[in-house]
Amino acid sequence: MDKKEAAERIRFLREKIADADYKYYILAEPDIEDYDYDMMMKELENLEKQFPELITKDSPTNRVSGKPINKFETVKHSPPMLSLANSYNFGELREFDRRIKTELESQEYEYVCELKLDGIAISLIYENGIFVRGATRGDGEAGDDVTENLKTIRTIPLSVKTDYKKFEVRGEAIIFKKDFEKINRLQEEAGLKIFANARNTVAGTLKQKDSREVAKRPINIFLYTLYVPDVKLNSQYENLQIMKSMKLPVNSYYRKVKNIDEVKDYCDEIESMRDSLPYDIDGVVVKLNSIRQQDILGNSMKSPKWAIAYKFKAKEKTTLLRGITLQVGRMGTITPVAELEPVLLAGSTISRATLHNFDEIRRKDIRVGDYVIIEKGGDVIPKVTGVDLSRRPKSSEEFPLPERCPVCGELLEKPNNEVSYYCVNYFCPAQVSGRIEHFVSRDAMDIKGLGENIIDILIQKNFIKDIADIYRLKEHRDELIEMERFGTKSIDNLLASIEASKEKPFEKVLYAIGIRHIGERSSKLLAYHFGSIDALMNASEEEIDSIHDIGLTIAKSIREFFSDKKSIDLIKRLKEAGLKFEIERDESRKENEKVKGKIFVLTGTLDKYTRDKAKEILESMGGRVTSSVSKKTDYVIAGYEAGSKLEKAKSLNVKILSEKDFEELIKS
Ligand code: NAD
Repeated sequence: MDKKEAAERIRFLREKIADADYKYYILAEPDIEDYDYDMMMKELENLEKQFPELITKDSPTNRVSGKPINKFETVKHSPPMLSLANSYNFGELREFDRRIKTELESQEYEYVCELKLDGIAISLIYENGIFVRGATRGDGEAGDDVTENLKTIRTIPLSVKTDYKKFEVRGEAIIFKKDFEKINRLQEEAGLKIFANARNTVAGTLKQKDSREVAKRPINIFLYTLYVPDVKLNSQYENLQIMKSMKLPVNSYYRKVKNIDEVKDYCDEIESMRDSLPYDIDGVVVKLNSIRQQDILGNSMKSPKWAIAYKFKAKEKTTLLRGITLQVGRMGTITPVAELEPVLLAGSTISRATLHNFDEIRRKDIRVGDYVIIEKGGDVIPKVTGVDLSRRPKSSEEFPLPERCPVCGELLEKPNNEVSYYCVNYFCPAQVSGRIEHFVSRDAMDIKGLGENIIDILIQKNFIKDIADIYRLKEHRDELIEMERFGTKSIDNLLASIEASKEKPFEKVLYAIGIRHIGERSSKLLAYHFGSIDALMNASEEEIDSIHDIGLTIAKSIREFFSDKKSIDLIKRLKEAGLKFEIERDESRKENEKVKGKIFVLTGTLDKYTRDKAKEILESMGGRVTSSVSKKTDYVIAGYEAGSKLEKAKSLNVKILSEKDFEELIKS
């Protein structure tokens, strides 16, 4: 390659890498595999080695990728939080060992091997034993101050016993696999975006401004670096022990080894148990143990020269794609599934793999009859990553976009801003068990004793066809007790739990019904706004849409749900069962005749009340608060700096209330 070609290729690679960095670090939504990214980086490094005059200071080979985001205070890291050099084969690790040997001349040395946890790097600072500041890595030089968010992580002690006046620890924030699955289940139920993997979930979560939201996500942390100003530390191994003795969370899989052969044994061992670990790892980190020797080696701009990551390559195989079937998820999401000629991969026979969605099938141009590459990485579910085009049959055709639900035959829908197709038929048999599971779950009706398997048995035996039938299970008490695996006690407990669930407030019932896109928060907003299911049933799409924080997607979904006679019947049966379909107002604040049934809009800032507070007061008195002014609005409450809503109110002749008028109204 001549210099001109190299310059062209370098430009191309830098652009591709910058694009991938943006998607990975800023959006937390990568669209290429890590391996492909690392190979582009290696190619760039090699080209820059061949043509050093083409190296620029801002080349991605020269700096840590990522950026602090503007939402938080920026904090400087000292020393910088670097990345790690990486290798995908053992030859490169031996090469690394040779460099160490040369640099250290004839000194003896040891390594410490650790898991390479697949999360995001963070720094924690303690002063006089108190956790005072936590930050993300950002671009290595400076990151985001996310102290409040990190304080919600239970494994980070807010204080520790130590003689050090000040110290810094660094480590990896991660989410355990089972927690990640649960988060995605909840996201799906609420009609929200599914996270690609646990790492992106942590990154996305720590970026949240509201630490209460962060507290809802079970993030964990393992620490691996210790710095103590003005104190000479001896070795990485000792540092890990010191952190452990301070009761800081340290992963237990670290090991001190004497030479590169023992490093290899460690890597092999860890790779073979990778799938059984409860969290994702993407390799092993090998570090020179002695801190004095680490200092001899030093750092490059981007990574320490005394450490290297040995990354596991996802295991892959090529096999025939026999067909594509459609799976209907518990909330109606349609997932295309690859039906494969069975192959042995990473210890198990694979005959199916997820194709995620139809955008993905089009993007990778996957066709039935193709030889496809399947991969099993840290994730439990194998995926199709590409196609061997050289083996494509001439007659192959694009797989058609789906039109109808394969289970109930209903027309599918694809919301504009989403990649998935949905079966929107609430009564689709494929969704029955999922819907029941949701209904009984802890955050919904909290009915204990109805696990997934039992629900399936009850459906098979025809005891339940939908959620309303749960309240008729008591009619089958004797038959249930007779059934193998149930006993009198467990059935009575179950029936008692079902009875107790009737006390759940309206907002929980509304959430439990499982109308698409109605999550916990929106059901609360809707319940308080409308006060009863009857009012919600009669509300127009516009009115629902005009509620603050409720959008058109939810409004449409509600209208769609209530336009089906079967839904009306379901609600009727649930009402007959005794469930609560009205908000119970706080007795101390009786309904106010002047407020009840009236529609309010708040604009500008009130002196004594936040907007949420004013809204809560009005709603507790039977009023409704919407976000936009229309002819239906009864009152606009205008604080100072009121804007266009006030103008609109004037033009529509809507009555305008000052803060004082508002206070009089609620006192009357
Ligand atoms: P990295 O993730 O490969 O390695 C450095 C990081 O490893 C550290 O910052 C730390 O967070 C982590 N780590 C985990 N366990 C550790 C331990 N025991 N000791 C020390 N560090 C440990 O590098 P990076 O700079 O965070 O990210 C670059 C990598 O991210 C790339 O190599 C690539 O694989 C991936 N990436 C992918 C895309 C994409 O589009 N797929 C884009 C950008 C980056």
